[in-house]
Amino acid sequence: MTVETHGFQTEAKQLLHLMIHSLYSNREIFLRELISNASDAADKLRFEALADASLYDNDSDLRIRIDLNPDDGIVTIHDNGVGMSKEEVVENLGTIAKSGTSQFLQGLSGDQKKDAQLIGQFGVGFYSAFIVADKVVVETRRAGAAADQAVRWTCEGEAEYTIEDIEKQDRGTTITLYLKDDALEFASELRVRSIVKKYSDHIGIPVALRKRADEQDKDSDEPTYDYDTINNATALWTRPRSEIKDDEYQEFYKHICHDFVTPLAWSHNRVEGKLDYTSLLYVPGHAPVDLYNREVSRGLKLYIQRTFIMDDASQFLPSYLRFIRGVLDSNDLPLNVSREILQHSPAVDSIRSALVKRILDMLEKMAKESSDDYRTFWREFGAVLKEGPAEDFANKERIAGLFRFVTTKTEGDEATDSLADYVSRMKDGQEKIYFLVADNLTSARNSAYLEAFRKNDIEVLLLTDRLDEWTIAHVAEFEGKELKDITKGELEESLFADTEDKADKNDSSSTEAIEKISNLLKDKVESVRETRRLTDSPACLVYAEDALSPHMRKMMEAAGQ
Ligand code: ADP
Ligand code: MG
Repeated sequence: MTVETHGFQTEAKQLLHLMIHSLYSNREIFLRELISNASDAADKLRFEALADASLYDNDSDLRIRIDLNPDDGIVTIHDNGVGMSKEEVVENLGTIAKSGTSQFLQGLSGDQKKDAQLIGQFGVGFYSAFIVADKVVVETRRAGAAADQAVRWTCEGEAEYTIEDIEKQDRGTTITLYLKDDALEFASELRVRSIVKKYSDHIGIPVALRKRADEQDKDSDEPTYDYDTINNATALWTRPRSEIKDDEYQEFYKHICHDFVTPLAWSHNRVEGKLDYTSLLYVPGHAPVDLYNREVSRGLKLYIQRTFIMDDASQFLPSYLRFIRGVLDSNDLPLNVSREILQHSPAVDSIRSALVKRILDMLEKMAKESSDDYRTFWREFGAVLKEGPAEDFANKERIAGLFRFVTTKTEGDEATDSLADYVSRMKDGQEKIYFLVADNLTSARNSAYLEAFRKNDIEVLLLTDRLDEWTIAHVAEFEGKELKDITKGELEESLFADTEDKADKNDSSSTEAIEKISNLLKDKVESVRETRRLTDSPACLVYAEDALSPHMRKMMEAAGQ
């Protein structure tokens, strides 16, 4: 039997180093991570067995078992899930393929508290075993492989691991942790019980703790064991809403999203009727590092009749809601569904539009009831939501209602005001929602175009995001009020009464001046007029109603058009 020594990929080594040295604040989460992986492995086996039932090899009762050996400080976690081949072990345990890894590692500061939080957002995964153990052994046999095709992966330090071929009687993975001296508490039954209950109650398969069988057997040489199921062992989304506590929803989110940060909101619904499905949708607490990378897979975790099908069914969400995570369990789709079938299924289309409504409901509710959470949401995901009006015409006004802006009446620089806020403050007789596009807030606030608006106390939205103008063009109106660029065309006359005097002084001197200026600029402008726009500045440029603004022009140039 040969033992091969391998080095870790650089990123894996860095992450491992972090686990070993800096994540002390919440050590117990290692167990959640390992149980979460075991449960994923059960899901994967069920999925593969749809095509080939022989993979079960007469053992289709999927479960996770934990053995504790407090005397030696050893914890063992067994699953009878899909297992790993040798190649998969090297790939999965020796490298980190997750996108955004190097970005994440560069973001680390060396400050333990800040880093721990970042690691939490990134997701710690399998390496969290090294928070509590100084030696970790993984023995695994892929479903469908023979007993002598199993592998043992051993790691005792940061630099390298070994791999050897072994025999393993049953399918699946066994992970053995040799606890550090200061982590022996994690071999205690009481402690492990409460950790499993706390973090893994929602796992859909039993998590059981090994116990000595019964009294009589105590003296025999070969002790027999029973397994005592600790968790609820029903998939969370299949349980009635009224029975599920908030922290169970939160833990479930962390399990399916591999995220440590508590979600901002969730919505759990069972739909029966023409279509029959359950959805559990979450708004995460922070944006992933690669939110803007359109290549990255995302979407809902898809189950069909409780069987896991895929992790990233993107067909159920429009692109502007791609930050939403969660589970969809359908009773209508065929078990052998493929991405292609999903793409052309009318059932998927109607589920998607129903989910969009639920998500908009959930966001509106958050905006109304928890303004702090909504601010976080807007900061993290606002820019993605702004793609909505262009993509989803039917819902454009509801989406626009979720937008937040800085206006001339906003205190501070944070976008906190909605279009509804603006409309509620509109002046008598004001019929349009005014906006100004600028590169940043400072230049917006110093713009001469605002003079008359200030003087007449008319609020203006200040748009400074790159895509704002494009977004607003798609929104076009809100509550029947046109959105109007203050640098274009004519303004509503009646509103600018305060500046009327000046403009009405249509005396001969100004007519003369206008003629002179017209002559000077005749090749450069369409016309020269008196204006009510200004109070202090002598002149400004106004664009024709249908002209491309300088910002749009810049954007189109940047896009190579
Ligand atoms: P993640 O779960 O986010 O993919 P982890 O670091 O937790 O990342 O695990 C890395 C990979 O190792 C998993 O994606 C999986 O392929 C593999 N793996 C870990 N534990 C098991 C297990 N018990 N059975 C089968 N594969 C596993
Ligand atoms: Mg994991």
